Amino acid sequence: MDTSLGDLRAELHKINHSILDLLCRRAQLVTEVLAVKEKEDIPLYVPEREREMLDDLARQNPGPFSDDTVRHLFREIFRASVSLMEQKKIETLRVSRDSHGADRVISVGRHEIGRGPVIIAGPCAVESAEQMEEVGRGLSRLGVRFLRGGAFKPRSSPYSFQGLGEPALRLLRDTGERHGMATVTEVMDTRAVGLVSEHCDILQIGARNMYNYDLLREVGRTRKPVLLKRGISATIDEFLWAAEYVVSGGNEDVILCERGIRTFETQTRNTLDISAVPILRKASFLPVIVDVSHAAGRKDILAPLGRAALAAGANGLMVEVHPFPAVARSDSQQQLDLHEFARFLGELALERTGTPFAPEAFAPRAAPVRQLEG
Ligand code: PEP
Ligand code: MN
Repeated sequence: MDTSLGDLRAELHKINHSILDLLCRRAQLVTEVLAVKEKEDIPLYVPEREREMLDDLARQNPGPFSDDTVRHLFREIFRASVSLMEQKKIETLRVSRDSHGADRVISVGRHEIGRGPVIIAGPCAVESAEQMEEVGRGLSRLGVRFLRGGAFKPRSSPYSFQGLGEPALRLLRDTGERHGMATVTEVMDTRAVGLVSEHCDILQIGARNMYNYDLLREVGRTRKPVLLKRGISATIDEFLWAAEYVVSGGNEDVILCERGIRTFETQTRNTLDISAVPILRKASFLPVIVDVSHAAGRKDILAPLGRAALAAGANGLMVEVHPFPAVARSDSQQQLDLHEFARFLGELALERTGTPFAPEAFAPRAAPVRQLEG
């Protein structure tokens, strides 16, 4: 009895090894299939083909397993194959960490993104020369080296303020030059890439345009750093694919920006996906920043979100700052004024990390009582 049980077990052991051997050979074939699919641009997962294979296996099933069990077992094998293909594809992306190893450090004039935390701050939209001077001066005194401001605004309603366009690009550039700050602004249209590149140091691709592959290709042809925002409902893989479009055009200076994704939650404008930060840092060699303002859509939780983002490994933060948020022409509810921003910087406790930020440099003063023009 013992001997026969031992024999049977030995036989099972041998079969396990044979199954493992077959599974590994199958996986090897799957990677060869992947190479062909990539060359011919065929989708990784074809549900109809999977159903045909399962039907065929059920027809050939000699028992004693039920057809459902056979289907279940093979479905798991197919699923493992698709995961293997997806994993292989991500590993071979040019944006993947495996292709490079070391973190990308992006030089923008005298400044860098990709080492210690940087802050990109400024108004949602460029509105006037006075507004830009006020905010540029205040931010530079606080140690901020990257000035943002929208010239072309992607608005949900076509009747909302769309940005001042080209004059705003000049205001942003002049303010940046006066205060020694690099500038960041959104480009929404392939036809505007040349113009925006002439005026601005970093090209921003907004969340709504993350899937605009022509635009991604166009900024990939420039030699300007690109700040790429995650789409409103984009998966992390789709976000990396979007970055791949830019990098595959020859431009490796891409900054990934997590800015919250749309969920069922209503307390915040979007849901800041904090897990995206360590996942992106692990998956890619590109710097990752977090836009806390568009994630939250409110001002009162920006400091804890910023601390969480930096603790999770972000290389910097984006924050909307306006001299008089109450009269801002867009996103007025989420923009900090300079006092609030100085407090925000203090609450981040960045000075402990040896960064140049100096929240104490901001001396509170009375805000002039006037409306901004426009
Ligand atoms: C912005 O940063 O000005 C902006 C519109 O953000 P998002 O594209 O993330 O909505
Ligand atoms: Mn905004």
